[in-house]
Parts: sequence; structure tokens; C-alpha cells
Amino acid sequence: MNNSVAKPYNLLPFRFERINRGLVFISNECGEYIFISGENFKKLVNYELNLKSDIFFNLKEKQIVTDTETSPMIDMLATKYRTKKAFLNDFTSLHMVVPTLRCNSNCIYCQVSRKEESAKSFTMDKHTAKRTVDIIFNSPSKAIKIEFQGGEPLLAFDIVKYIIECAEWRNLFKNKHLEFVICSNLTLMDQKKLSFLKKKNICISTSLDGYKELHNRNRPLQVASDSYDMVTEKINLCRSYLGKDRVGALMTTSRYSLGNMKQIIDEYIKQGFNAIFLRSLNPFGFAKQERHKIGYDIEEFIVNYKEALDYIIDVNIRGTLFVECFAALLLTRILTPFSTGFVDMQSPAGVGISGVIYNYDGNVYVSDEARMLASMGDNKFIMGNVNKHSYQELFNSDFLYNLISSACLECLPGCSYCAFQPYCGADPVRNYSEQEDIIGHRPTSEVCKKNKAIINYLLELIERNDEKINKVFWSWITKRRIL
Ligand code: SF4
Ligand code: SF4
Repeated sequence: MNNSVAKPYNLLPFRFERINRGLVFISNECGEYIFISGENFKKLVNYELNLKSDIFFNLKEKQIVTDTETSPMIDMLATKYRTKKAFLNDFTSLHMVVPTLRCNSNCIYCQVSRKEESAKSFTMDKHTAKRTVDIIFNSPSKAIKIEFQGGEPLLAFDIVKYIIECAEWRNLFKNKHLEFVICSNLTLMDQKKLSFLKKKNICISTSLDGYKELHNRNRPLQVASDSYDMVTEKINLCRSYLGKDRVGALMTTSRYSLGNMKQIIDEYIKQGFNAIFLRSLNPFGFAKQERHKIGYDIEEFIVNYKEALDYIIDVNIRGTLFVECFAALLLTRILTPFSTGFVDMQSPAGVGISGVIYNYDGNVYVSDEARMLASMGDNKFIMGNVNKHSYQELFNSDFLYNLISSACLECLPGCSYCAFQPYCGADPVRNYSEQEDIIGHRPTSEVCKKNKAIINYLLELIERNDEKINKVFWSWITKRRIL
């Protein structure tokens, strides 16, 4: 093209990726996307598209091109961009607290490097618990979620109760939207504890790795191998007190789970769950130490994930609303203009600014993965200690500023020009753990390989424009069955 000749239209900022069947996927900064043929893509970038063609109208509608003045289009894009990033308005709403690192389970992949149930220390004292609540209520966020993580929080139920009561007292003066979640293996749950949790309207998140044999293999107790019967019985007990929708479960994929995704999904449906989050192992704690026994290549996980997703879609088409949570998050980002923060997968990364974790000893870390790393002896991502530092010192530090500024996909090498960037997220702790570098090298990063493959697969399914699959996807986004 001769540069001296006036261009018939202007290109607005976009990124692209060649996907299946010679198609090119184009996305802009706000996540608007379009699939076009390789031939049309060539015409687009050479300014050879006919201004009256359908493809030009479609590109214009998606704010990829404009044949009018550029600045109003940029203003419109800026408004949409602000909407997409609205989760940043809400500073640190997720506050995870580890009341104890002791645990009565012996999960083969324990990523937090739990301590023995009988260990003498590793439990939060009341002074640290009170300071933790004080720090939490300094957060400007209007909504506060306090999530108790382990170890097994029910081994330190007195501290859990103390924190809940302190937080409720503080909230009388702050009037925030306050929620509590207890992440527990449930083996120690009983009616007395449930009566208290019911009064406080608390949610439970437990772990169910699948059917009996698999769950028992992945998650034995220290004193018995059969944890499946106990956890399934306690799930029902919790539901009877708290209500069905206040009890959720998460699964972790070990090597023994591979090849068994359908049975895992069937188990979730059998137990009355309407969602599953297919999670791969994170390289922390015992999962890292025992990787040679229980780990796998991320490519194997991806194959299993896609098969599982196909199966779940089929379950939905056959009439059961059952959501795969990771796909639902990505689909919301791809198909809607809404803002979706998700601590482990957002840009800038959620470390410290969306979620934070307070360890039993008062140490504060930027994420759950950061304290997992600390349990392995590496304190790189410590923000400070509630007993030594003020809220300002913890959250307004050069350390946090520098970390966040290195964790924006928009400027990470490889991500900055990736067409999937509007749907993806950064995690400097994971990069560091995997590659000893907070920036990381995208082409060899497991997280990138996984995210890229799953986003690519979802795009393939969207591009098929199959009415039944579209309805399933929209039912996951809206959380209601669409016939
Ligand atoms: S994964 Fe959780 S329940 Fe299992 S051993 Fe570790 S802390 Fe305990
Ligand atoms: S992590 Fe990978 S898939 Fe995600 S934006 Fe970066 S390059 Fe793209």
C-alpha cells in the first residue's frame, strides 16, 4: 500500500491469533472478538476491505476498525475498558486466615505442607487473631469475605469463633457486607459446631476428589484410609443445617484422577452438586516434592480437561444444569462486557490487592500460593506481620507496588501481544515457583499452556455456533437453565 494515499479506514488497537480451519481470531482490549477468514484478515490489514461489505460492518461493530473520526471510538473503548476492570475499584475484599496449620488428613498432594494434628504449635493465638481482624477492617472494600483456610480450621474452632465474633463486632461500626467461608475436610464437623455456623450464616467449602476409591487414595486421613464415607456423610449433615447451596466442594486432579474424569463428574452429580472446578495440581508443598509420583505433564491435564468439558456439556444438553467453573469464568469474560475479578487469574494480578492471606503466626502473604511457598522455606512474598506492621505498612508498600507492576498481562512479554489476554490473568507467585522468575517465560509456562489451550478450545466451541452448546454456555453464565 502506498503510504501517501489516504486510508479508507483506520485500524483500532487489536490482537490476533490464527486458530483452527484457517480462521483468524481477533480481539480488542475490552475482549470484543470476531473470527474472520485468513483472506479477509489480509485485506483488513492492507486496507482493502470494501466499506459496504458485511465483514467491514462486523469489524466496525466490534470496534476493530472505524471509517469515522477515531477519538470518539477510543473514548467508547475506554468506557468499556473501565467496565471490564471495575473489579479494581474494590480493594482487597478476600481475606484468608489460617487459624492452624495442623491437620488430621494426610492428602498426598497437600500444597500447604500441613503439620501433624498432634503438633504443639502452628495455631494462631488470640492476640494475633484480634490484630488480624483489626487489619482486615482497615480495608476500604465495602465487601469483606473472611475465608478460613488450613491446615484444618476445625482443629482450632475456638480461634475461628473468636475471629468471627471479633469481625462481627468491628462490623457494627463499619457496616460492610461481611461473609465467612470455612474451608474444611469436614471430618471434625459436628452438630454443635454447625449450630454456631448456622447462626452466623456461614458457607462451607470442602474437598471431594471424586468417587470413593479415588478420594480415599488422594485424601486419606492420618489415622484411617477411608475419608470418603466421612466426608460424604458430613456434606449431608452440613446441608441439613446450612442449606444445600451453602455447601460447596472443590476437587484437585492427581495422577490417579487422569482418565477418570467422567466418573469424577458422575460422583459430583450423585452427591447433589451442580458445579465442579476442574483444578490441576499447583507446584507447591507435597505436590512439588512428590511430583514424580503424583504429578503429570500439563498436556495430559489439558487432554483430560477437554474430554471432561465435552462430557459436562453433554450432561447439560441431556437436561441437568451442571457448571464447570473455570469455563464459566472464561465464558463470562469472552461473551459478556462484565467485570470478573478472580484472584488467581486477573490483570493486574490479584496478589495483595484482591486477596491476601494471614498465616497462623501473623505473617501476611500476597496469596495462598505465597504462604505455600513460605511453608517450603521461601518467604519472598511476605508483606509483613500483623503484630509488627500497620495496615498502611502492609498494603501501601513499595514491595506490593513493584510486585503488581510486574504482574500486568498488558506488559508481560508474550502476553502483551496475545489475543487471549482480555480473558487471561497473571500470577507472579506461580511464575516464580515454576520458573524462579516473577515474569516467567510464557511459551514454557504450564499456566500459559493450560490457559491458552482451554481458551482456544472454548473459542472453537463458540465458533461452531451450535445452538445447544450456546444455550449451555449461557446457562453457565446466568446460572440458570436455558431451554
Ligand atoms: S490438603 Fe488440606 S485437608 Fe489435606 S492434608 Fe493438606 S491441609 Fe489437610
Ligand atoms: S498467559 Fe499465555 S494465554 Fe494468557 S495472556 Fe499470556 S500468553 Fe496469552
